Amino acid sequence: MLSEFDLIRKYFARPARNAVLGVGDDAALLRPAAGMELAVSTDLLIEGRHFRAGADARKLGHKALAVNLSDMAAMGATPRWATLALALPTADERWLAGFSKGFFALARRFGVELVGGDTTRGPLSICVTILGEVPKKKALRRDGARPADGIWVSGCLGGAAYAFARPGNAAAAKRLHTPEPRVALGLHLRGIASAAIDVSDGFAQDLGHILERSGVGAVVHYETLPKYRIRDAKLERRCVLSGGDDYELVFTARAGARIGAIARSLKLRLTRVGSIGRRRGLQILDADGKRMNVGRGFDHFA
Ligand code: ADP
Ligand code: MG
Repeated sequence: MLSEFDLIRKYFARPARNAVLGVGDDAALLRPAAGMELAVSTDLLIEGRHFRAGADARKLGHKALAVNLSDMAAMGATPRWATLALALPTADERWLAGFSKGFFALARRFGVELVGGDTTRGPLSICVTILGEVPKKKALRRDGARPADGIWVSGCLGGAAYAFARPGNAAAAKRLHTPEPRVALGLHLRGIASAAIDVSDGFAQDLGHILERSGVGAVVHYETLPKYRIRDAKLERRCVLSGGDDYELVFTARAGARIGAIARSLKLRLTRVGSIGRRRGLQILDADGKRMNVGRGFDHFA
């Protein structure tokens, strides 16, 4: 049986390159570049709540980091370092090998270094904290949307929720289990987006956070929303408006901002779906201009 320290050494300790000191001491030592602010975010994934018992370990390793990278994207931050707190029922080496493979494959792609963590026995849970850098005052916050700004969405919405509702669809399953964080988009939006958020709890709810923090309202045209293809219209509406886990970015930008050029250079679909207005609240209009009823997004305590 692997000891706690063997386990950390074998599966998680990697030589530090961007950190002054990485795994192995009482704390990691990090040095942000001059003129940068640190962006810090934490996400906790619990078995039975965020993923099913028996979920593929490699995909979990990917997703645990991806949801944190997505928060960096939504802040316009460059991800740099992460810590990982793991509770495991047993030191299952097959699980650990798969998990660390998925985690480090994504970490390498985004230049993120694992610099510490904690490991304990317990019901399976995975908590990643990520640290990134963003030039002073350039972070994409939720509170900068202003009347007449356009509202934009990356990629498409609803795929992850569809996979949850109809397991077995491979393309949708990919959206749910191995989401692609929009980090490059976040970096391009520095100085261009007036506000941004990532879609983790559903488009309507997450856009609602921007509106609330910015003290504005919005009109969105349902027809214009970029949608994952779903035949059942009612299910489509639920997945697109209230389904979470897509990890796309929703952002606002002044009219005339050159979003098309960003879309072309990233080869990423960016769609304008509505406008910010003075009148509070979110109105989503159907093709006939009628106001649609929007279900609530995800709430852990609902
Ligand atoms: P402490 O007793 O200070 O909590 P530990 O003995 O738990 O330290 O951990 C030893 C070292 O291994 C520390 O540097 C810690 O950050 C790191 N570490 C522990 N678990 C993990 C993990 N799952 N991933 C990465 N680093 C880890
Ligand atoms: Mg410890």
